[in-house]
Amino acid sequence: MKAMILPQPRTVLVPAVLPDPEPGPGQILIGVHTCAVCRTDLHVIDGELPHPKLPLVPGHEIIGTVLDTGPGVERFRTGDRVGVPWLGWSCGECVYCRSGRENLCDRARYTGYQIDGGYAEMTVADARYAFAIDPSYTDAEAAPLMCAGLIGYRALRMADGDAVTKAERLGLYGFGAAAHIIIQVARHQGRRVFAFTRTGDDAAQALARELGAVWAGGSEEEPPEPLDAAILFAPVGALVPIALRAVVKGGVVVCAGIHMSDIPSFPYEILWGERMVRSVANLTRRDGEEFLALAARVPVRTRTTSFPLTQANEAVDALRRGIISGAAVLTV
Ligand SMILES: [Zn+2]
Ligand SMILES: [Zn+2]
Repeated sequence: MKAMILPQPRTVLVPAVLPDPEPGPGQILIGVHTCAVCRTDLHVIDGELPHPKLPLVPGHEIIGTVLDTGPGVERFRTGDRVGVPWLGWSCGECVYCRSGRENLCDRARYTGYQIDGGYAEMTVADARYAFAIDPSYTDAEAAPLMCAGLIGYRALRMADGDAVTKAERLGLYGFGAAAHIIIQVARHQGRRVFAFTRTGDDAAQALARELGAVWAGGSEEEPPEPLDAAILFAPVGALVPIALRAVVKGGVVVCAGIHMSDIPSFPYEILWGERMVRSVANLTRRDGEEFLALAARVPVRTRTTSFPLTQANEAVDALRRGIISGAAVLTV
């Protein structure tokens, strides 16, 4: 099969022909249709995440068709359309796994990081961690739901913190793939969304307004009214104190990325008043089932820019430069 592989961190992806993968016990063989490009892929390629499999087939927002099933698979059959997310395996035995927090499992393995992913014609996945995909979505539309949507949804849940009322005025810092999905869910839930982008990113601000943001501006700007919570999708630590200054007492600042530049020191008074800063790590299968059912109901529509698999480097580069509106998707 053809694939785009990462030979070493801090290099570019190179085309390769690999042996066709075979499904082991509990696994499904998937013919990949689309794979969205996530910011985490950039962190892997740039060597900012420490333990990738090498050489690696990146990609963890995979949509495809089951071509074959290994022994013991009952969840899916040949011909089913499935989605494969970042969480590829967890131990099922540790204190985290046993308490519904498999996203924190120390032995967890991740698609497109420790397991070869979807920048390829085929991939294998543990059937227990794959999802059925609602027929209302095309392959390209569905791909960004697998991480941008799913982890965005987990971040949105965390935005309510321990407040007795839900965070009605929600700030989204960084308006890319995740934010353009989560704004639709947030509005469906009756929240008002304030979108913060890189200063001067008129396209992202226009998209935010089109999707129902009540306000859109640069991330250094003060919102027109205080926020009940903020989600940081941009991997920029300097935004943490900025967002803390924008939220009310008891408000939560959720850092949704897997990697972030250092957070500058800040005066305690902007955290005081039971404001919270927290991260969101990975996903659980429950997040996936909940979010995918909700997304089809809302219904969440995604904007995508497609690239052929062979142009994976161009897609990665476009995401890095922030010139993608919505999500970048590789088509296979
Ligand atoms: Zn575990
Ligand atoms: Zn991702």
